[in-house]
Amino acid sequence: MTTVRGISGVGVRGFLAAAALLAIVSTPPATAVLGAQGGGTGTLPSVAAIEALLPGGIAPLVITVPAGASAVTATAFGDAVHLASVSPDRWEGLLGVDLDQKPGTYHVFVSITGAGGTRVSARAPFVVKPRHYTTRKLTVGGQFVDPTPAELARITAESARTAAIYAGVSERRWGGPFAAPVQGPATGNFGSRSVFNGQSRAPHAGIDYRGAVGTPVLAPGPGQVMLAENLFFTGNTVILDHGLGLFSLYAHLSRMDVVVGQNVTGGAPLGLVGATGRVTGPHLHWAMRLGRARVDPSLALQVLGR
Ligand SMILES: [Zn+2]
Repeated sequence: MTTVRGISGVGVRGFLAAAALLAIVSTPPATAVLGAQGGGTGTLPSVAAIEALLPGGIAPLVITVPAGASAVTATAFGDAVHLASVSPDRWEGLLGVDLDQKPGTYHVFVSITGAGGTRVSARAPFVVKPRHYTTRKLTVGGQFVDPTPAELARITAESARTAAIYAGVSERRWGGPFAAPVQGPATGNFGSRSVFNGQSRAPHAGIDYRGAVGTPVLAPGPGQVMLAENLFFTGNTVILDHGLGLFSLYAHLSRMDVVVGQNVTGGAPLGLVGATGRVTGPHLHWAMRLGRARVDPSLALQVLGR
């Protein structure tokens, strides 16, 4: 099992015979909690059962806590799952599985600070299923495979900037309608291993929509513009922050119609489909992040667009 921040050293004290098979752990051992384990008094934290997920998948995390809880935190895969309180006894967040996550059984760890400072922890298991990716061979301009030292420096700087954006956490904006940024079917090439001009490169962490140059690209849901500029690989690029660690990226645009800091609503124009950056032709590359997890927008649409 991976080491989880804030939970290490907490011993497993028992299991609930609930649907989610929660293991209740507590530090220090709280008699009220231990006494309630078998009885199910309704004062225990509980995590709604999490459906099995594919790499790149996303799932709602719903935590019910005793009234009066002053703080609720959660981790999975060693990273924080950011939560928002939607009512005094209910907290919600999103769980994301990175595209390279190995199949197996994992846990969400939840820690609750209750009235009087008692800390109670619970864990809920979930399964990551196997997912197989194809390999695609592409031919692009030589500079995108063998960048110069100056281009390498630019790539490194841009990568650090986007990583810093994805590390941010803002208020929840997702939760309402969430729709694809352009009409039409997306290619099912999320996670495919990319071989550019015969050289292996990072897996394809998004989905592509074929579209004519100039096709409007619309915000899938409410968000704040975190980046709107030309990047080496993704060309004219817009990144939206949807809150609680969820971000979306729109690449290769021919034109950008938003500026950093701008708040957009679902359906707002972000720019136009284009062929800027490392491309073989005009298309929209749509990617999403949940913290460090590279998630599949088509799976996120199924969950967020419900
Ligand atoms: Zn793409």
